[in-house]
Amino acid sequence: MIRALQIALAVFLCLTGTVIGQDQANLPHYDITADLDPETGALSVEVTITGVEGGPLALRRADWLTIENVAVGGRAHAFTPQQRGFIVPLSGAGPHDVVISARGTIPALASGGRRNGAGSAVSGAEGTFLSGYSSWFPFSGSAPFSYRLSVSAPAGTKAVSPGKILQETETAESYTAVFASEKAFEAPSLFAGPYEISERDVGGIRVRTYFPADLAGFSGDYLDAAGRYLTRFSAEIGPYPYEDFHIVSSPLPVGLAFVNLTYIGEMIVPLPFMKGRSLAHEVLHNWWGNGVYVDYPSGNWSEGLTTFMADYGLAKDQGSEAAKTMRLRWLRDYAALPESRDARVRDFIGKEHQAAQIIGYNKAAFLFHMLEMEIGQKSFAKGLRKFWSDYTFETASWSDIRRVFEVVADRDLSAFFDQWLDRVGAPELTLGDVQTEQTGDDFLTTVTVRQSPPAYSLLVLMDLEKGSGTERFLRRLDGPEAVFEFRTGEPVKSVHIDPDYDLFRRLLTGETMPIMRDITLAPDVAMLSLHDDDSLSEQALGLANSLMDRGSTAEIVAEAPNLTQLGSLPLIVVGEPAELAEFAKDNAISPVPEKLEAGALTAWAAQTPARLPVLFIAADGAEALRSARRSLRHYGRQSYVVLGGGKAPQRGIWPVASSPLMKPMTK
Ligand SMILES: [Zn+2]
Repeated sequence: MIRALQIALAVFLCLTGTVIGQDQANLPHYDITADLDPETGALSVEVTITGVEGGPLALRRADWLTIENVAVGGRAHAFTPQQRGFIVPLSGAGPHDVVISARGTIPALASGGRRNGAGSAVSGAEGTFLSGYSSWFPFSGSAPFSYRLSVSAPAGTKAVSPGKILQETETAESYTAVFASEKAFEAPSLFAGPYEISERDVGGIRVRTYFPADLAGFSGDYLDAAGRYLTRFSAEIGPYPYEDFHIVSSPLPVGLAFVNLTYIGEMIVPLPFMKGRSLAHEVLHNWWGNGVYVDYPSGNWSEGLTTFMADYGLAKDQGSEAAKTMRLRWLRDYAALPESRDARVRDFIGKEHQAAQIIGYNKAAFLFHMLEMEIGQKSFAKGLRKFWSDYTFETASWSDIRRVFEVVADRDLSAFFDQWLDRVGAPELTLGDVQTEQTGDDFLTTVTVRQSPPAYSLLVLMDLEKGSGTERFLRRLDGPEAVFEFRTGEPVKSVHIDPDYDLFRRLLTGETMPIMRDITLAPDVAMLSLHDDDSLSEQALGLANSLMDRGSTAEIVAEAPNLTQLGSLPLIVVGEPAELAEFAKDNAISPVPEKLEAGALTAWAAQTPARLPVLFIAADGAEALRSARRSLRHYGRQSYVVLGGGKAPQRGIWPVASSPLMKPMTK
């Protein structure tokens, strides 16, 4: 189950189309009539495009789709096939009406469902997915446009598409539904399958689930959850911009966001997690991404803002401890990111690998958290609503976001946005001298805080612990060093800087314990095998490479590299449990699990004294290596995991030593 979930998360994508400025009244219009049989994959489609100005008209089509007829102005018309489409020559300025009929067999859904991305077209008895990007109907690619889509399928099948439902009819033979959009930016995708529809009205929004019979029991929970998120985000941002919201289950292991619709793999529908943060995230993309469009060339802000308001917003609901845990997890992931893979937030376009997610989702979400601290909750909330009302159904960039928040906060925020968007990296804070002395009736405490160059302008929270409790202060650090003074009525016992991880910064040694991602996110990793048997070493190498982030590789080395040398590659060491324990001891690599179980596979992250990350994989046979191949890579955020041995996986993070940003007082 966990595996299916992770696969789905790996392909979470958000689709948007290209934009060509045009008067809404004169948008080209597509009238699409589709006849679909999911089981055989047979599709026939007729498209009438009206309002085509000038010519020639270039149209795309899927390679499995055959163009049967083209008519212009009611008369049969010639067309020229091209590699991925065809061209309809047009004479005169227009506007022209072009009618095209096409037919084809949609590629078969592989049995059991294989990995399929946002651009696919597949069909089978379990369902049909026709991505708008697959050119399942002849489409010019120009946007915006309006459309009306009428789809018919055999009885027992339900079909659904983004857009408003205009009409729905069901007879003993067939099901027909009609969808429409007055201004669309991407070709409509089409979904069909043996679905049961459940529906609820949420303040005038029609919310539906399209689930097969064996998942119908989950509908109530999904409708409840979707209703809560729609209500919540409408209140926080502005009214939901569409009439419908559909949750459609997929035979494919995917999780995709479309306009007023989310498409999620049926394997993961039962997981509690899905109707929590994941569904909230997809619902929120109707505002950020599909309601305000992303100006991709200047950077994708929508994942950061969506992560901040949905994933992190739900964590905040659980309490400050859950919110702190999420921030720490983001910082921990960032600490695992090698410098060579670090990037500017502004350069994030989409999530091709985990490294991009650490910047484009997490660091960008952190930016909004710090912005809220900078300008205050009230202005921040006002800014979100203003951003929505100013840019609904328009394209917006990071600069537009900055301008909106500058207006509501009535201050210049260019330095704030520049340092977080345009710099690679993060500041590292250190705590210098802390002193306290009695001055008359009260006490004067001085605290020296430093940051690594180049200096950021930071709002730093500081906790001063006194006999009667802890008092919290907020101070600005905008140079390499500052000495802060505090007057208190009683002696201060200790000082703690940024105690709740409210700043995006580099964690210090002591704040972080090794996790497996320290190794698996590195672009190149050396693997040393202590197995005598070459076939075991090969198995282990296969396992090691299954752990690496996309684009990264582990290569086998013949002998142990010099671990004290600077610039050595992170290392994976594989072997039998006893050999690994000995290797760790000889090289002063720590920590090592107290007990390594026979028959199980134990993987753990550790460090050399020079802080070089090392991942150990202890297995005493080919079977343990083979069976870990599917599951081990899902534990990258852990310090250690024990798989097999007839027990449920055990995992965890090494306990943290005391924080170097906390100091007891010296006199
Ligand atoms: Zn997203």
